[in-house]
Amino acid sequence: MPFELPVLTYAHHALEPFIDAKTMELHHTKHHQGYVSNLNKAVTGTVLEGMPIATILNNVSQHGVAVRNHGGGHYNHTLFWSILSPQGGALPLGMVASAIDQYFGSFDQFKEAFTVMATTWFGSGWVWLYVGDRGKLGLCATPNQDNPLMDVVPAEYRGIPILGLDVWEHAYYLHYQHRRPEYVAAFWHLVNWTEVERRFQQAL
Ligand code: MN
Repeated sequence: MPFELPVLTYAHHALEPFIDAKTMELHHTKHHQGYVSNLNKAVTGTVLEGMPIATILNNVSQHGVAVRNHGGGHYNHTLFWSILSPQGGALPLGMVASAIDQYFGSFDQFKEAFTVMATTWFGSGWVWLYVGDRGKLGLCATPNQDNPLMDVVPAEYRGIPILGLDVWEHAYYLHYQHRRPEYVAAFWHLVNWTEVERRFQQAL
């Protein structure tokens, strides 16, 4: 099978108390596995088989809704697991820290803008920090499993995502129920800024 569920670098319970073990287990082994399985069904035997997921998503408008939804789902969750860590939190570091200050004024202003977007986005979707044209950092929210790599996203939100937050109810409902703002606040305790910095440098 061309795409596989990534193995996490931490246990499902390792992000407690901020994200509970049961949510992580279901989110990773059921939801994400579902995206992987359905993506494989959609690409097997087509010209997309063997193509990198980012390449597929860059031209996703040509590939149908199953590739958009499940390809996005696989890419987004793979990124999400990588930017969470039991040793996360604290402050951005390196070049991305400077870029956040440059484009958002300060880390606190960035965090506030991201938090407002994540708590007020209506329905399922994601909030992204992404690298746009000429290394410019941007902030946007996308519905469903869309992301800034996709050619179906408005041009001003196109770029390479380096930090994302899943605001689908499946990401938090077991523990937080309707209290999405508490989940968003908890997220900041888990952000793996080393990985965000790595993705930022790679995007440049
Ligand atoms: Mn999810």
